[in-house]
Amino acid sequence: MTTQAFLAPPPRSRPLGKTGLTVSGLSWGMWRFKGNDVAAARALVDAALESGITLFDTADIYGPDNGEAFGASEALLGKVFAADRSLRRKMVLATKGGIVIGTPYDSSAAYLSSAIDASLSRLGVDHVDLWQIHRPDILTHPQEIARTLEDAHKSGKIGAIGVSNFTPAQIETLAHFLTVPIASTQPEYSALTLGPLVAGKLDQAMRMDMAVLAWSPLGGGRIADPRSERERAVAATLKKVADQYGVSVTAAAFSWIMAHPSRPIPIVGSQTPARIRESADAYKVQWTRADWYAVLTASREEPLP
Ligand code: NAP
Repeated sequence: MTTQAFLAPPPRSRPLGKTGLTVSGLSWGMWRFKGNDVAAARALVDAALESGITLFDTADIYGPDNGEAFGASEALLGKVFAADRSLRRKMVLATKGGIVIGTPYDSSAAYLSSAIDASLSRLGVDHVDLWQIHRPDILTHPQEIARTLEDAHKSGKIGAIGVSNFTPAQIETLAHFLTVPIASTQPEYSALTLGPLVAGKLDQAMRMDMAVLAWSPLGGGRIADPRSERERAVAATLKKVADQYGVSVTAAAFSWIMAHPSRPIPIVGSQTPARIRESADAYKVQWTRADWYAVLTASREEPLP
């Protein structure tokens, strides 16, 4: 009996949880989206759209890590929208809130409702399709979070509710108090960051029918530019498969993420149009179990039991 049968190919599109929306198998993220050049910013959005990406992920906190103000990345996207009002309709727009510099987390009703309004204002839109709690605020009762987000959902400001960096128990508890399903979860997940595979996060996403948005899918770029022995081993194992399909190591890294049956959506973080376009090569790669487990084993640095 052969074990070399291919796993299902990475999906070009998939449902966004139970929202009824369909999104692309890859997303594009704006953590590193910065500057004042609206034409250059538009070129990045176009590169993503031309690669078939329909899911765009930003956050109110994107800015300070780039030496800019809180909200700067949303504001830049708002300028891109202002220059072409048709653009907003071409994408499923996701943002996040709940991180407050110096606090560091606040999911109180007063803060979250003001953060949602502020994001809409910076983006210059009347609603976002997905609004995610960026990090769990341990000090707000999940019932209060649920009421706040349901109110925003009912008023049409947010099309769906998502979470990021939540533990499975935190997700389960928030879901208990919500009357609308949680559409998505956004953990860090890559061939270098395996936590979601072993902490039950991907299992829970399948059980609750949540879309998984995988942040830093290249380990923040380390898969493209490996420094440690472990990173080099993971990149080399990915390269063996990449070479078979004539694609880059980064495309193989995205497709490795997408091969999991929860069908995680890698959030491509590149701010280079050519690299954003190249991410679509991920759809060309089909994994065998042996090749997929070889990457996992290289990352674990020890054989599987
Ligand atoms: P990533 O894809 O892991 O890393 C992107 C970085 O890798 C960029 O600096 C990029 O540089 C570099 N890179 C890509 N291809 C390369 C190559 N061939 N050679 C050398 N460098 C290369 O993703 P990320 O930017 O860390 O995160 C992606 C998205 O995840 C963010 O935009 C955000 O939406 C989301 N995120 C969420 C959280 C959260 O807490 N929820 C946290 C972090 C990120 P270039 O730009 O020069 O191509």
